[in-house]
Amino acid sequence: MQAEISPQQGQELLKLLVNNQLPDQQGRYGPFGGCYAPETLVPALRRLAGEIERYLGDDEFMARLDTQLRTWVGRPTPLTPAPELGRRWGAEVYLKREDLAHTGAHKINNALGQAMLAKEMGAERVIAETGAGQHGVATAAACARVGMPCTVYMGAIDIQRQAPNVDRMYQLGAEVVAVESGDQTLRAAIDEAFRNWVADPHRSYYLLGSAVGPHPYPYLVQRLQSVIGTEARAQMLQQTGELPDVAVACVGGGSNAIGLFHPLLGDESIELLGVEAGGRSADLGENSATLATGKPGVLHGSYSVLLYDDDGQIQETHSVSAGLDYPGVGPEHSLLKTIGRVSYKSATDTEALESLQECCAAEGILPALETAHAFAGARKWAQENPGKRILIGLSGRGDKDMPTLSQHIPNRGAGRS
Ligand SMILES: *Cc1c(COP(=O)(O)O)cnc(C)c1O
Repeated sequence: MQAEISPQQGQELLKLLVNNQLPDQQGRYGPFGGCYAPETLVPALRRLAGEIERYLGDDEFMARLDTQLRTWVGRPTPLTPAPELGRRWGAEVYLKREDLAHTGAHKINNALGQAMLAKEMGAERVIAETGAGQHGVATAAACARVGMPCTVYMGAIDIQRQAPNVDRMYQLGAEVVAVESGDQTLRAAIDEAFRNWVADPHRSYYLLGSAVGPHPYPYLVQRLQSVIGTEARAQMLQQTGELPDVAVACVGGGSNAIGLFHPLLGDESIELLGVEAGGRSADLGENSATLATGKPGVLHGSYSVLLYDDDGQIQETHSVSAGLDYPGVGPEHSLLKTIGRVSYKSATDTEALESLQECCAAEGILPALETAHAFAGARKWAQENPGKRILIGLSGRGDKDMPTLSQHIPNRGAGRS
C-alpha cells in the first residue's frame, strides 16, 4: 500500500507544515504519523501533548531553556566556512557545527529540552533507550543537569559494542539496564523502555531520542531540534548575506535533519537533501536506507516508511555508523519525501569513510560517521550542481567512532618500528 497524495494536496500539506499547523489533532502528517500506542499509554501521551503546548508556548520556560542552551550546551554553535572542501568540490561550503555542542552532537538539544519538560511535569524519573549510546549519554548528562534520576535501556549486544559510552553514562549517574530480549539491539531496547513506561506512566517520563515514535514525540523532537536550522539560517544571512542553495543532513531516525530542514521549508529557493545509510549494498538487510527502499507500515507507535520483507517482518539493517542503523524514519520525513519537498539519497559505507577522511584532511574536523554520509551526499550534489552554496548539518564529532575507523582505515602512523 503506497500513500497517494496529489500535487495540489502536497502543496496544501507543505503550507500547513510551514505554518506549524501540522501534525493535526491525531498527530498526523498527511497519511503519516499518528499514535499507535498501547491503550495504557494513550492518557500519558495525551497529557504530554498538552504539556508541550503549554510549556513550549510559555515565555518563562523557553527563556530558561534558552539560557541552558547558551551557558551549558554552548549554543549558538558556529557556522564554519569550509574553503578547501569548497575548492575541491567547485562549491561554496558551510558547516553547521553541532559537533561543538556539549556531549559532541545535536542529541543534547533534544535531551535537555525533554529533561527540563519532565521536571516541570513533575516526573520523578526519566526512562530512555539507546542504540549506539549517544542518546544515552546526552540523556544522562541532561538528567544530571536538571537533577533527575535516569534509567537507560540498551541492548546487550550494543552494551558490548559501545563500552566507552556505557562508562560515560555510569559516570554521569545513569542506571544502564541490559536488554537480553529480541534482537538485543536498539529495537529491543525501545520495546523494553515502552514496557517499563507502561508500568508507571505517571511517575516516569520517557525521553525519546529521535523524531520517531507515537505522537507527540516527532513533533516535540522537531521543535527542540529546530534551533539548528533557525540559527543556521540567520548565520548564513549574517555571514554571507545569502541563503544556501541546498541544505544537506544525514538521516537515521531523522532528528538532526528535521532540525535543520524544518525552519527552511518555507524558503522555496533552498533545495533540501537528506542522506541515508546505503550500507554495503542496495539489497534488503544490507543498508538502512529506509526512505530510498522502504514501504509504509507501523513501527514503534507511528505510521511511516519502514524496511520490512514480503512477510511483513521488520528487516535487520546494516550501516557502518551505529546511529543510522534503524529500520524506520520519522513521519515528517515520510511526508516530505512523498510531497517532494525534500529529496533523499543514500551514501554507502565506503563513500562515508572516504568523505570522513576528506573532511579531516581538508578542514581539520573529524566528523561522526553518521555525519560523513551527509558529506558524501553533498559532494555528489556539488558534482551535479557546480558553483553553488551548500550548507551541511555537521551533526556530531567522530571521536566516538575511533574503534570503527581504526578497523576500516589503516593507521599511517602505526607500524613504525
Ligand atoms: C544519532 C546521530 C545521528 C542520527 O540520528 P538522527 O535522529 O537521524 O539525527 C546522526 N548524527 C549523529 C552525530 C548522531 O549521534
